[in-house]
Amino acid sequence: MKQRLLFLGPPGAGKGTQAQQLAVAKDLVHLSTGDLLRAEVQAGSALGQEAEAVMARGELVSDALVLAIVRGRLESHQGGWLLDGFPRNLAQAEALGQLLDDLGQQIELVVLMELDDDLLIQRLLSRGRTDDNEAVIRHRLEVYREQTAPLISHYRSRGLLEAVEAAGSVETIADRITELLG
Ligand code: AMP
Repeated sequence: MKQRLLFLGPPGAGKGTQAQQLAVAKDLVHLSTGDLLRAEVQAGSALGQEAEAVMARGELVSDALVLAIVRGRLESHQGGWLLDGFPRNLAQAEALGQLLDDLGQQIELVVLMELDDDLLIQRLLSRGRTDDNEAVIRHRLEVYREQTAPLISHYRSRGLLEAVEAAGSVETIADRITELLG
């Protein structure tokens, strides 16, 4: 079974929900950079203070900051993992590639969760997170298209990408993803 996975897709596609569930079912570590950053903000750490305003605007926090978080987690972990919300741009994808080379590990599958904008906005508005108001949501979708969407061809050209229709019940979508793990 593939156990080094990356979840890609726009905000609101359900990456977090699916990643969390799959991680429990398959005993993988779920690394969500968004969750880790929110925990830093909550804790009021220096890192959290640096990230807070950027996150509230729906922009990306610095690559160096996010990389430091991911590096620490991957270095101290031997088994399978599931990256959710990282990488978010090509520079992060390249840094991840380098880090994994150093660790002698490889991405085995990139799951692209696809959903129409209308549904994304609807889902995000019902979630009620502080960065989930309509103006910030639209900006996050723009940031996704400009900075994150180029990763689709990056991973597709490496033969790693599988797209999943992210409409339907949580269970239906989970079944679609599980099928891809082999
Ligand atoms: P998420 O929970 O993945 O939607 O992330 C929430 C916010 O955290 C994003 O809008 C960014 O401000 C920040 N963030 C999460 N992951 C990253 C990342 N890999 N690179 C930069 N910023 C990130």
